[in-house]
Amino acid sequence: MATATQAISVNENVTKYVAKPRKMLINGKWVDAASGKTFPTYNPATGEVLARVAEGDKEDINRAVAAARAAFEKGPWRNLTPSERGRAIWKLADLLEQNLEEFAQLECLDQGKPLVMARMMDVPYSADQLRYYAGWATKIEGATIPISAHGAKFFAYTLREPVGVVGQIVPWNFPLVMATLKLAPALAAGCTMVLKPAEQTPLTALRLGELIQEAGIPDGVVNIVTGYGETAGAALAAHPDVDKIAFTGSTEVGKLIVHAAAGNLKKVSLELGGKSPNIVFQDADIESAIPGAANGIFFNQGEVCCAGSRLYVEDKQFDKVVDGVSQIASQIRVGPGMEPTSQMGPLVSEEQLNRVCSYLESGLAEGAKAATGGSRQGDKGYFVKPTVLVNTTEKMKVVREEIFGPVVTVMPFKDVDDLVAKANNTPYGLAAAVWTRDVKKAHRIAAELRAGTVWVNTYGVLDSAMPFGGYKQSGWGREMGKEMLDLYTQTKSVCMPIS
Ligand code: NAP
Ligand code: MG
Repeated sequence: MATATQAISVNENVTKYVAKPRKMLINGKWVDAASGKTFPTYNPATGEVLARVAEGDKEDINRAVAAARAAFEKGPWRNLTPSERGRAIWKLADLLEQNLEEFAQLECLDQGKPLVMARMMDVPYSADQLRYYAGWATKIEGATIPISAHGAKFFAYTLREPVGVVGQIVPWNFPLVMATLKLAPALAAGCTMVLKPAEQTPLTALRLGELIQEAGIPDGVVNIVTGYGETAGAALAAHPDVDKIAFTGSTEVGKLIVHAAAGNLKKVSLELGGKSPNIVFQDADIESAIPGAANGIFFNQGEVCCAGSRLYVEDKQFDKVVDGVSQIASQIRVGPGMEPTSQMGPLVSEEQLNRVCSYLESGLAEGAKAATGGSRQGDKGYFVKPTVLVNTTEKMKVVREEIFGPVVTVMPFKDVDDLVAKANNTPYGLAAAVWTRDVKKAHRIAAELRAGTVWVNTYGVLDSAMPFGGYKQSGWGREMGKEMLDLYTQTKSVCMPIS
């Protein structure tokens, strides 16, 4: 039996998978980059190279888009019955579950997150998304429209057709979840696609490509091009033969995507950054608000777009909440994801480690105090101590900007109107939460918060069926739920006189 400190033994398939340079999936073939170049992906727990991956660029994007275009026009996927499409997507979910341990370990090694999280969350949730949208394939319906025009009688109806060739660019925080969330509704709608995973975490998306083939999804329908954002990603966003681009990542790159998409006015949907307020009123159940607030920021190393990174606490409960969240933070076991005792892994990369540490330095230099944490942990791997910052002001960078790490700022409030103004005083609007036992107050504040999701007496609940997305600069459009199908379909009106 493994002792508490022993690392979990690496799954045999994972060892084999990372031993070879990984190719890209274009038109049903596993191919090298046209340039022949490869790039490394690292294990963030050690900083060592985990695997090498094909470095796709503009030329490979061109090949992949041509394959997706041909597959869309020939229609081996969109002309299947909706039920057949649904069944193939469902089969993909089954295959993913059958390979759960391999996927969880690949994600843990490439991304850093604790294996237990990848097993419990990332892989099952990815399968759930596939099944949710598999179910939608047979339910994408138009409508019949009563027409008043021109005296004659008309029969008018709408069709919802696939938007066409889709480019999908995803980040590194939930690599597999982000890939399946993009692919599932596009597949259900009958689109064809080119997926570009993040350079830091390409492995689970590539392995998923093998299962896509095994599930019987025809060649060219899903193409996966690995490479850098500035080359492969930018080429995909600008490509004149791509009908729609779906992007998840930073607000900064989201703006570049919008500019790149302007050339052919491709449709754009964006899931971007956040700086979400988490609000604890003094009449809240403090015993659940404290762990809720801690989980809201420390889950997934704080590398969560909807993390509750600004914690506002009504002044009478301020000290208690700061102490409680700090105590939880200081007890989180930070270590390599492959160690069974680890509750928090390393940040994804050296760059992200430096970014988070520079925010910590800036906050402390501007007068913030670390109630716990406040620095890197150890000197091997990219670990940061879970951090609670107090003595912060609304002007500080740590309060205004997205840190994307395990760092929460805690600020007291007295007046509710002032609190709402502060909570909304951000260019972002992805999520927010309110903790209170007063039902009227909960719903009144929920209505006043400018955010795409508001949680009451909980934090971070996401579901395949519940729309998610940003107000303001947190994005365009909604993912998950029925609304996500709107991103991958377009409406055609058909109208004829019948009198
Ligand atoms: P990022 O730098 O914006 O990268 C996201 C993706 O875009 C990566 O695949 C990246 O490729 C690619 N990319 C970079 N530059 C590009 C360009 N000029 N043209 C086209 N593609 C380009 O974001 P990140 O730092 O990886 O991820 C963290 C950010 O994502 C945070 O701000 C977070 O809030 C946001 N996020 C939002 C959500 C949401 O649902 N709203 C979910 C997760 C993350 P490379 O990997 O090669 O850079
Ligand atoms: Mg990696």
